[in-house]
Amino acid sequence: MDKILRINMSADGGPEIKTEPLGDYASLGGRAMTSGIVSKEVPPSCHPLGEDNKLVIAPGLLSGSVAAMSGRISVGCKSPLTGGIKESNSGGQPSQMLGRLGYAAIVLEGKPTEKGLYKVFINKDGAKIEKDDSLCMLGNYDTVDKMKAEYGDKVHCISIGPAGEMKMAAASVAFTDMEQRPTRHAGRGGTGAVMGSKGVKVIVIDDAGCSARTPADPEKFKAANKEFVAGLRKHPVTGEGLPAYGTNVLTNVINEAGAYPTRNFATGQFEGAGKISGESQAEMENARGGEGSATHGCHRGCVIRCSGTFYDKNGNFLSKQVEYETVWSHGGNCGIDDLDAIAQIDRLDDDFGLDTIEMGATIAVAMEAGVAEFGDAEAAINLVKEVGQGTPLGRILGSGAAVTGKAYGIERVPVVKGQAMPAYDPRAVQGQGVTYATTTMGADHTAGYAVTANILGVGGTVDPLKSEGQVELSRNLQVATAAIDSTGMCVFIAFAILDQPETFQALLDLTGAFIGQDMTADGVNALGQQVLKQEREFNAKAGFTKESDRLPDYFKTEKLAPHDVTFAVSDEELDQVFNF
Ligand code: SF4
Repeated sequence: MDKILRINMSADGGPEIKTEPLGDYASLGGRAMTSGIVSKEVPPSCHPLGEDNKLVIAPGLLSGSVAAMSGRISVGCKSPLTGGIKESNSGGQPSQMLGRLGYAAIVLEGKPTEKGLYKVFINKDGAKIEKDDSLCMLGNYDTVDKMKAEYGDKVHCISIGPAGEMKMAAASVAFTDMEQRPTRHAGRGGTGAVMGSKGVKVIVIDDAGCSARTPADPEKFKAANKEFVAGLRKHPVTGEGLPAYGTNVLTNVINEAGAYPTRNFATGQFEGAGKISGESQAEMENARGGEGSATHGCHRGCVIRCSGTFYDKNGNFLSKQVEYETVWSHGGNCGIDDLDAIAQIDRLDDDFGLDTIEMGATIAVAMEAGVAEFGDAEAAINLVKEVGQGTPLGRILGSGAAVTGKAYGIERVPVVKGQAMPAYDPRAVQGQGVTYATTTMGADHTAGYAVTANILGVGGTVDPLKSEGQVELSRNLQVATAAIDSTGMCVFIAFAILDQPETFQALLDLTGAFIGQDMTADGVNALGQQVLKQEREFNAKAGFTKESDRLPDYFKTEKLAPHDVTFAVSDEELDQVFNF
């Protein structure tokens, strides 16, 4: 990947495309690339939907190669949801394809002077941009179908739905999966709204005629890749749990641990968890036929294969196999125990281009406000439809949980830096609480997934209900994750590399053989720290202080059943997370 594609939407006479060498951004990928460009080129005080913000889409450092698990793609910008820097990453095919085409990043900048929507087409001969108002307010599914009809059935897409066009702060950017469906999303932080503000509806990618990127040391690379894959297959989470049930394998685990946020984080256990668990989902999928519960990868080269397909009662495709966080947000967090209803909402979120975590958390806040009853699945479906239609209520909900809480005068709003908490109650998984409070991203589980040592016994054991050891755990995980997010590797490799030193070494060897220089654990650590420092600096200039690194007060005073615990990590301890 030796070039950056820049599209200046403000240029005189219409959008202007430029291809540049990497320059200062050489040897960066994924999150290191997006946060690098945003930190250097976006004024921290700018309006997220204004012409000074940029949307950066960057494949990982190893994307486009045959390295296993290397097809994640990062989307970065100043977030309309948090007001800080954002990196949200996704699976899907576009990362591998952009890597093969040689693009280390696509940067959308400026703002069109005229109303209207644009489509971008990229293939081996270059890139072009055209106005196409026929795409206006199409869902992601119809958008992809239209692009396939126009550019051929081998293309893949990066697109926004109506929520992005309406510049809602919960809007996502969609990436097509192996089956060319827009089911993978850079969901968090309103990246879709920024793409909408640039007037770009879809980026269509065709990598015909391109081949996989070649490693600097092919023999060493091949051997390390083999060892890495063997390690992933050997670990019980990456080799058994995730491939068998997908991420929803976590429902029963987190519920049993008393850490399953239920009815807007009111309790830590949901009586209907068994009905929406990964095990029940697999049983249902098997009974309905189709591809059954067989899981598959969301992009070429995934060997964990936690993704899958959800069929409706008549055996027709409805959505992807719904992910744990979505099953939780639209399920237990709203008191809903109906997998069919949850899958319907997942499909609507994907089609409208909405972050499923933010939307589920928002609907739960709306339920607490009395807009609908907890447990009323039909009402939840209708609320999401209001968002897609852009009704006044829909516009409030599409702005996320924090805005909805304000609009209805609700105190119990589970957000940090304006972003909704995911599927682990920070009182019963206190390491996760440290990550929610302190990550540069706003409440985000993937930024430092302390569930590993707190609940799963992966990478050590730290008591989830106590404050001891949580800061160090979260710090180490946040640093490692910032580095992994830069390689293009799916974060689920963390289970195996945390537990198996030989698999971590294989990852270092794999990366080193690809880029042609030795990689060490210290080097990975330094990369992660550098990315975090850059992001922290941006946020400080955008107005964040140490008081921004806090959970809402009620997590410190309101006890969570069944353990009757509050969040016990002190502010002073939280201030030690970034002491490097
Ligand atoms: S493990 Fe799951 S999320 Fe990760 S790349 Fe594979 S299918 Fe996608």
